[in-house]
Amino acid sequence: MAAIAGKCARCMRDVPADARFCPVCGARVAGAPRPLRRRRENEKLAGVCAGLADNFDLDVTLVRAIYVIATFFTGIVPGLLLYLVLALVIPAS
Ligand SMILES: [Zn+2]
Repeated sequence: MAAIAGKCARCMRDVPADARFCPVCGARVAGAPRPLRRRRENEKLAGVCAGLADNFDLDVTLVRAIYVIATFFTGIVPGLLLYLVLALVIPAS
């Protein structure tokens, strides 16, 4: 079931809550803020990177690359801890 989040600003049709673009005219939907979710369908570990990428409109691979690099530069442990915390804190969709 797709909850209706609001109306498209361009064509005024109903737009589902999880849509990022209007299904009718393709305009970007600037509706209610999307809750941060881990994406189970596109996960390598717990879907944290995919969820973050989704949330910030970034490429999943880019987020993973940045995450891995940042983890190495911070001495690995902080990055792994952060990932575990995020995996526990962010609900899976
Ligand atoms: Zn529209």
